[in-house]
Amino acid sequence: MQKKSDKPAPPEETPLPPPSKKARALHAEIVAGLKGMLALDSATPLDPVFTNAYETILELFGAYQQEILSRSHYQVTCGKNCARCCYHWVADVYSFEAAIIAEHIKQQLPSKIPTLCNALREDAALLQTLDDMLDERVLKDASAHTTEALDRDDLLLEGFYQLRRACPLLDSSGACSIYPVRPMSCRSYVSFSDPLLCDPDTIYYNEVLTCLCTIEQAADDVLEKLHDRYDHCEHDTSLRTLLPYYLEGFRDCILKRVI
Ligand code: SF4
Ligand code: SF4
Repeated sequence: MQKKSDKPAPPEETPLPPPSKKARALHAEIVAGLKGMLALDSATPLDPVFTNAYETILELFGAYQQEILSRSHYQVTCGKNCARCCYHWVADVYSFEAAIIAEHIKQQLPSKIPTLCNALREDAALLQTLDDMLDERVLKDASAHTTEALDRDDLLLEGFYQLRRACPLLDSSGACSIYPVRPMSCRSYVSFSDPLLCDPDTIYYNEVLTCLCTIEQAADDVLEKLHDRYDHCEHDTSLRTLLPYYLEGFRDCILKRVI
């Protein structure tokens, strides 16, 4: 999903080297696997044939990232229980990922669902409040003082990040409670600088070096088709607003404007 990211933009000089022959071969396998999933025409992404195929795609994606990152001149600094990046509003989740994540929660963490849905809704309400404030104050004031166009979605996502609302899926030990099925969006974000600098207070320092190590357009095109096939939420792709629908079967926290 190569649309607006919820994470800071990659630096102009990317720490990612061009894909090696092995990386290109892995990416071709990803594209072929995704096309195979499209041809399956499963009625639901919870069809075991579909979920198994997607698990294989995620393994290939991990191998693809590993191959690219291992050839970088920089060292990845992401590690276990390092979770400042989980303050971000995860804006780009495919519909079938949300369905698979919700099923994982139903199977593994059923007792957490009511608390989780409350936290997700609280965050969605906060984002809506921020969005309304942007309408009323920030963009109006800014337009009076600058001729530069401000990216409204970026402002909104940055504002939410500064609130330090940890993703409700982060557990008390600082680990992702849905780690095996976490979205590609979360898997893509990597840092090469001191993890402490991923804090909202320091994320825009010059020495911060983060980037998105993600799939290329050919794979994204097929993922988008799969997303559209299973989309029941009017193109909403935010993790925090999609999950209550998939967990409880109805939508009561629809943002006025889908980011
Ligand atoms: S992006 Fe930053 S906070 Fe997130 S795991 Fe990597 S180093 Fe840690
Ligand atoms: S889904 Fe997991 S990895 Fe992604 S933001 Fe939430 S806790 Fe972090």
